Amino acid sequence: MKRVYNFSAGPAMLPEEVLKQAQEEFLDWHGIGMSIMELGHRGPEFKNIADQSEADLRELMDIPKNYHVLFLPGGATAHFAMVPLNLFGQKKTADYIDTGIWSKKAIAEAARYGQVGLAAEIKKVNGLMAIPPQSDWKLNPDAAYVHYTPNETIEGIEFNWIPKTGHVPLIADMSSMILSRPIDVSQYGIIYAGAQKNIGQAGITVAIIREDLIQDPLPLTPTLYHYKIQAENKSFYNTPPTYSWYIAGLMLAWMKRHGGVAYFSELNKRKAKKLYAVIDAHKDFYVNTVHPDCRSQMNVPFDLPTPELNEKFLNWAIKEGMTNLKGHRLAGGVRASIYNAMPEAGVDKLVAFMKEFIRTNG
Ligand SMILES: *Cc1c(COP(=O)(O)O)cnc(C)c1O
Repeated sequence: MKRVYNFSAGPAMLPEEVLKQAQEEFLDWHGIGMSIMELGHRGPEFKNIADQSEADLRELMDIPKNYHVLFLPGGATAHFAMVPLNLFGQKKTADYIDTGIWSKKAIAEAARYGQVGLAAEIKKVNGLMAIPPQSDWKLNPDAAYVHYTPNETIEGIEFNWIPKTGHVPLIADMSSMILSRPIDVSQYGIIYAGAQKNIGQAGITVAIIREDLIQDPLPLTPTLYHYKIQAENKSFYNTPPTYSWYIAGLMLAWMKRHGGVAYFSELNKRKAKKLYAVIDAHKDFYVNTVHPDCRSQMNVPFDLPTPELNEKFLNWAIKEGMTNLKGHRLAGGVRASIYNAMPEAGVDKLVAFMKEFIRTNG
């Protein structure tokens, strides 16, 4: 059997420990004589899995009691619509911070249901992409909410601070950074995240919703998109994606066994530091155009001097057992996604390869 270091941005690498456990339990889960996939979602066995995964996520993120934790289908993209549909209420506008491609998608979706205020936009300062400080934002105190993307997966831009929005609820698409570092959940109205980056496999999305934001949505909202109905039914309004939920549960238990968010936060810091160090040591060869203050710890993009060298780098890397380093189709270049499941040894191998590549091609 051959396992590669998979630097994909998502669906991303999963820990071998989790895959092996899923394999062991595949045909006969805990002696019931069938797989999780064949198990009814309303029985006590699946309810246990659901309850345990919620308890583990609550513990890992220290989620206060006045928040609902939902496991929903539809990906983060579903929440691009669910957030405006559920939160506009009587308000006329919602504020959005545009830091990249995922922000723009959220904005385009929200604009279908109400008026979007663009409160701040990413800027180039001295050739580097930089998040404007909050003192430059134009926040509307009457907005229904403020939405932002703490980590832009495609461009590799991450906030290292939490916006302060006062009485206006702060909504965050944490798809590519949830559980990668400690987060004060109480600062947020809603946090949502697709699972396929840091929580497990595709098909399920976590939503953490402050109780008072569970309200009546706009009238035409599809039933499945009501946060209220989903919360009342504890994510069991219809058949949930049971296998994806189960894998998320295994991942959360794996995180807990290995020391929780505190452990992974330190590990992620080290991994990112090693990668940026080799980029900074060869600035003219490995070019990253994100301001050091907002470099992502999860997605590290860089460009080689020519498209030919990019291509050569990616092909060599595959031969060395490092796959999916190709940048997003809209961004090009190279991108190393180094979520919680990427071992430090994978990053060490990539760093050694980058040094070797520049020695022979620089
Ligand atoms: C991957 C990603 C999405 C899209 O998630 P889906 O589950 O495919 O809908 C949205 N936002 C961010 C920040 C992402 O990284």
